[in-house]
Amino acid sequence: MNIKISEKAGFCFGVKRAMGLAWRELCDEHDKQTYALGPLIHNKQAVEKYEERGLITVDDIEEIPSDVKMIIRSHGVSKSIYDRTEEKGLDVVDTTCPFVKKIHDIVKENYDTGKKIILIGDKNHPEVIGINGWCKNTAITIKTIEEAEVLELNNDKSYCAVAQTTMNLEVYRKIVEILKTKADDIEFNNTICSSTKARQEAARELASEMDCMIVIGGKHSSNTQKLVGICKEVCPTFAIETRDDLDVEEIKKYENVGITAGASTPDWIIDDIIEFLKSL
Ligand code: SF4
Repeated sequence: MNIKISEKAGFCFGVKRAMGLAWRELCDEHDKQTYALGPLIHNKQAVEKYEERGLITVDDIEEIPSDVKMIIRSHGVSKSIYDRTEEKGLDVVDTTCPFVKKIHDIVKENYDTGKKIILIGDKNHPEVIGINGWCKNTAITIKTIEEAEVLELNNDKSYCAVAQTTMNLEVYRKIVEILKTKADDIEFNNTICSSTKARQEAARELASEMDCMIVIGGKHSSNTQKLVGICKEVCPTFAIETRDDLDVEEIKKYENVGITAGASTPDWIIDDIIEFLKSL
């Protein structure tokens, strides 16, 4: 079996930074309990490692007692969550990715000048929920080309459009073209993260050279699932979280196997799978 790993696989800059900050916090000598609002990243195995070190993950800020530490994960949160941390006297460790923070700033600034925000992304994704919170949850959120086609905009209004950082670039471009026909005054901000773009392009290129692809990453990781979609367009693709998910008999049928991984997949999981494949 010839195994080739994508040049852009695994932790992106923002996740690496966030996970490093969180780990340092857990290793530091202090007497405060550390909470995370939502799983640190969409990778069960990595989250478990941090929880073994003492991190407590909760889904609601009201589950966090006063006077403890709270980690804001790389996805970022809405303004109301920052307000609540102050009211509760929480010691905040903010690991929001700077690229996401930039979107918060664009949204707030434009919302404050009276523009209507259009958010291109998945309305259920934590990053999008956080971004929407910087315009008081008033954004028009669309994810698909079909949704863009039926969207009605008002030519008397000014709009500001931003994108979820992990949005598929091709879909984003098509949506922009459609929206341009719906209203005259839309300021488009392509806020798709360059790391996402590079990862998607590298995955597509590798998939075109290989007989099949393995995409490693969490089932709930948006960017991992987009990589799966891209690779599937090009060649047979296996989406796995760990080596236990591998269909060994099926994989053995292929000679040239490409590997990529989502931005929230730790190196140790990727290495473990590569070692396993080599042993086949
Ligand atoms: S994918 Fe981009 S925006 Fe998202 S955490 Fe990584 S670097 Fe930041």
